[in-house]
Amino acid sequence: MSDNAIRVGDLVVVVKRHCDPSRLGYIFVVQQIQLGTTSRCSRCGSGVSAARMVRVEFDPSDGKWWAYPDTWLRRIPPLWELDEAERKEEEKV
Ligand SMILES: [Zn+2]
Repeated sequence: MSDNAIRVGDLVVVVKRHCDPSRLGYIFVVQQIQLGTTSRCSRCGSGVSAARMVRVEFDPSDGKWWAYPDTWLRRIPPLWELDEAERKEEEKV
């Protein structure tokens, strides 16, 4: 697992959807990660399989999770990592 792998508790942004762009750009905190699963696209019903399925939000109205393959998400670095990158930039000058 690389350092950029998405983990529980990370902030992530949705960068790809199956056929429905409505949640592009949404930001979530990762709640759970499932390995090797298939879920159904909420819009067209097609199966979407992924080595790592990231669950981001539980919907109590139907008892299901909003989930995305990890390849459809980008991890947003924690602020302390941004601070660190900035400090390195400053040290280079
Ligand atoms: Zn779809």
